[in-house]
Order: sequence, then structure tokens, then C-alpha cells
Amino acid sequence: MADSGPGEQEIVFVGQVDLGGVFRGKGVVGHEWPYRCRWGVGWPPANLMLTPFGTLADNAFGSRGDVFIVPDPPTLTTIAATADVLPLRIALGHLRTRTGAAWDCCPRAFLEAALADLAREAGLYVKGAFEHEFLYSGLDHRLGDPFALSAYRRIQPFADRLIPALALAGVPAETVIPEFAPQQVEVPIAPAVGMAIADRSAILREVVRAVAASFGEQASFTPIGAPGGVGSGAHLHFSFLDRGGRPAAWDPASATGLSAVAAAFLAGVRRRLPAMAAVTAPTVVSYERLQPHRWSAAYNTLAVRDREAALRICPVRPDTGRPEAEQFNIEFRATDGAANPHLVLGLLVRAGLEGIRERLPPDPPLEGGPEDLPPAELVRLGVERLPTSLVAALDRFAGEGRSLMPAALADAFLGVKRAEMADVAGLPAEEVVRRYRAAF
Ligand code: GLU
Ligand code: MG
Repeated sequence: MADSGPGEQEIVFVGQVDLGGVFRGKGVVGHEWPYRCRWGVGWPPANLMLTPFGTLADNAFGSRGDVFIVPDPPTLTTIAATADVLPLRIALGHLRTRTGAAWDCCPRAFLEAALADLAREAGLYVKGAFEHEFLYSGLDHRLGDPFALSAYRRIQPFADRLIPALALAGVPAETVIPEFAPQQVEVPIAPAVGMAIADRSAILREVVRAVAASFGEQASFTPIGAPGGVGSGAHLHFSFLDRGGRPAAWDPASATGLSAVAAAFLAGVRRRLPAMAAVTAPTVVSYERLQPHRWSAAYNTLAVRDREAALRICPVRPDTGRPEAEQFNIEFRATDGAANPHLVLGLLVRAGLEGIRERLPPDPPLEGGPEDLPPAELVRLGVERLPTSLVAALDRFAGEGRSLMPAALADAFLGVKRAEMADVAGLPAEEVVRRYRAAF
């Protein structure tokens, strides 16, 4: 992702994905870059309370106080979407207080601290990538489009510009897929380690949006394109490396392929999943996506190679030349592209680390669908339906999930999300879907 510094009059838009899932910040002119990399750009704390619709949630900050967005120079990224406009330069930053300390409400600081604890306590480093689906308005939907060459042909000009733009931005794509839902495209990317997993997700979203805009079109990471339809996910594929950089999630001797430490991590995540949903599936329309039989995740289940599981153990293949231990990964499917990727990964690590600390026993992977099991069996296995609305998810997070985050961050998140719900309360379902599509 490293990039040479900006020219004197070049602008770098420095920011973060905020609690509402929107990249916000300020443009820094190049001659200020070295100073700002040290001291940051002023940021009113109340900006933290913006909803994705641009309204301000009630908050105690008011007009007072200052925090600073301090750019992280290695994240300086060039987005070259068009030949005729100068490339857009962006950088991700940390939110710091006036003394330079991490601000409690900074999503990147939250992730950084969670990753540091995982490394210190368990000797583990997360390797992974978000797998984004999005809707591209330039694909005129036709019947029969899913995975069709004819659909791919119609997005080819977009894809041909997008893939090099992603590479230039330090986000190497692996495949390009005309997906199942109308206008849906998926672009899986190569894994990174630690903070870069979430940073790449933030950057990918902006590159995709910029390239779509260069065609006069819109790309939206909204979780749902139409009421009742199939959603767009941002599945998080992940595994672990040990202190020596060796794969640590895989144990060929176990029935699932999971190492003992990875199984304990997943048990911790699975237990907390219903309380985490508010953060990982953070919009009103996210719960339209998290329905049974939409290949998303409706229950807090772990399963081997099942696309309806919240935690899916992905396949490994022998004899590919890529060692099985390196291929092996778990896919967290109960998340979407309206979520803040730093909060999602940070929360996953916090919940998983609890499982490691408590030495939770491995969960038996679920066979078949939860609907096929009697209620008593679901209780015995700890299988639960995930919340079915944002309001229910927020209540659950407020009750049980809050402890996984600094209190100030959790409370700010709840405030933003409750205001976001109020923004769309009472609107017809189609209008709610339309607004989210425009916002993301
Ligand atoms: N679109 C599905 C989702 O909402 C995922 C489909 C897939 O397995 O790629 O998560
Ligand atoms: Mg997909």
C-alpha cells in the first residue's frame, strides 16, 4: 500500500470509516502533509455522531472539544479511476486526542488494541480479507444474469478499469464475479495481515465507488438491493499466523481441520454472535439480508462448507502447490458492506480472544439446517437465531455486547444507530432500501 508522499499542491483526503460506515475526513494539501502526519487535522468529536444519512445524533459533545485525525502514512493510496481527472489520493488515520493519545472512540485504535492483545496473549496474528459484494448500476439487469458470461460482458469495461485501479491502490483482486442478485458483482481480494485487512476493505469500497462514478454509474455496498431479495455480504475470510509467521488455524488431525486454538476462538465468536450483530450487520436493511435460505447467515452456527452458516469452514484442496495449512480459512458471513470493517474485525478478535482465554471446548459443527432440529437440541448446542431487526440487535448489543468495546465507543455507536433508525422510521420499505442504496 506504500505510496510516495503527495506533491506540494496535491490533496490527500485523510479520514476513516466512521461508526455509520461512511468514509469521512478532510483534504490535506501536500505542503502540509509532513506536519499533519505528526499532528493531524482537527476534527470535532461530534462528527463521530453522524449517521450514514448525514444527520447528527444527539450527543454530549455538542460544539465543544477537539480530536485529530492523524494520517497513517503507509495507508496513503492513489485511486486512479479516470484518465482525465487527477488521481484521488486518500489516507486512513487514527483519531487522537490533543496529547496524541488514542481516542477511546477511534475504530482503528479499537482494532489495533484487539490485535495487540491477541498477539500478546495468544501469539496469534489474523490473516484475512473481506469478500465484498456490491450492486453496480451500470449493469442493466436481465433475466438469467447470475454468473453468466453475457452479464460479465456487460460489466467488462468497468471490470477492466477496476482491477488495475485496485492493484494500484494496493488491493490485489483475485476474481471478478457477476453474482446472483440483480446488478450484483463480487470482487474477492488477496489476504493481508492485521490492520491492513480492514484498511483494504475501506479502500476497496472507495476504489469501486470511484471507478463506477467514472462511468457515470453508482456502486453500492448496501446489504440489500430490493425488499425480499438476496443481499450483498462482506464475508470476512480469516485464519491465523503464529509468531514465526506459520499458519496456526489448521490441524489436519482434527475432524474439522481446526487447530485447538482456532476452535476456541470460534467458540468465543459463536457465543457472542447474537450480541455482535448490531455492529457486523449494522443497518435497518441488514436484517432483510440475514434471513434463512439467502446464503447469508440467520443463526449463530458453525458448519463445514455450508454457505448458510455464520462461521463457515472453507474447503482446502490437496496437491495445488499451495500448502493446505495456508489455504485453510474460516469465513464469517454475518456481516455486510455497510459495517465499519475495523469494528467488525476488532469485535471478532475480542470475542474470539474470550474463547481462547476461557479455553472453550470446540463447538461441534452443525450438520443440516437449524430449522431441522428440535428446539431442545438447538438450546443444547447453543444455536440461536440472530436478531431479526436492527432494534433487536441494538438492544442485544447494549445488554451483552457493550463489554467487548470501550464504553464510550459502544455508547457512541448505539447513539448513531438509534438516530439512523429514526431517520428512516415510518418510511415505506422500498424507500428505506433506496436511501440505504444511495448512502452506501
Ligand atoms: N449474497 C450472499 C450474502 O448475502 C452471499 C452469496 C455467496 O455465497 O457468495 O451473503
Ligand atoms: Mg458471493
